Amino acid sequence: MSFKLKYQITSRYLPSPSARRSGIPMSPGVRFIVAHDTGNPESTAAANVRYYSNSANEISASAHLFVDDKEIIECIPALTGAPEKAWHVLYNVPTDNQMFGHNANDAAIGIEYCYGANINADEAYRKYLWLIAYACHQFNLDPAKSVVGHFMLDPRRKTDPVTGLAHSRRTYEQLLRDVVAEYKECTGDSLPLTQQPWDETAQSGEVTVTTRLNIRKGAPSTRAEVYQIVSTGTQLAYVSVIDNGEPVNGNPVWYKDENGNYYWSGGVNKVQL
Ligand SMILES: [Zn+2]
Repeated sequence: MSFKLKYQITSRYLPSPSARRSGIPMSPGVRFIVAHDTGNPESTAAANVRYYSNSANEISASAHLFVDDKEIIECIPALTGAPEKAWHVLYNVPTDNQMFGHNANDAAIGIEYCYGANINADEAYRKYLWLIAYACHQFNLDPAKSVVGHFMLDPRRKTDPVTGLAHSRRTYEQLLRDVVAEYKECTGDSLPLTQQPWDETAQSGEVTVTTRLNIRKGAPSTRAEVYQIVSTGTQLAYVSVIDNGEPVNGNPVWYKDENGNYYWSGGVNKVQL
């Protein structure tokens, strides 16, 4: 599934290792997106990244991307390189863990909206929407469920991106709706396969196929592309078990093979070793 590349993302990485950019990979990977604004009207994407760079070892706060009306700049790898952690939400707030099962700093991309009198609000908003939708696409996240505002995670200290969006005469609810619409437009209206993340447990074994079985690419779902069809009696190996794939006849358990492809557990019998 391709995504319309409307804008360019410029990478201008901060020095690493530094207080702002540890260089530590995201773990367990990118699972959601946090929408921020800079809280500093009139500061552009370039100015913010310059400031981050100049103070890379003085302050540990950071975010991956800055967006204004002119450009999108990535200062910590997220979309232009292997995703690294940034420090954009306090670790001790509980809502990120409740909503997504992870701390935002470990598993979320932080995207900063720039606003103010010198920034064309409509154009900045268009780029911001596109970027959030694009990030969802790149990490196979459902755009309707994977985006959260910083103020939701840290309501006692933060109002972003509500404050910044108000400068574009838009609300947070509007942003969430517009991101989904942008995603649909840029993908030609196809939403990602069921839900992510999969509940995956590393566990290896062998099975015997009991029916004509589809081996699928990309997701434990009957909507995923068929990679290969195997016949009854075929022996297959697996390297992990997914407990929350697409339920087929009420059974959501799928196996993943060593090539990263998936097959439904209902079409096989486990071989007792
Ligand atoms: Zn924020």
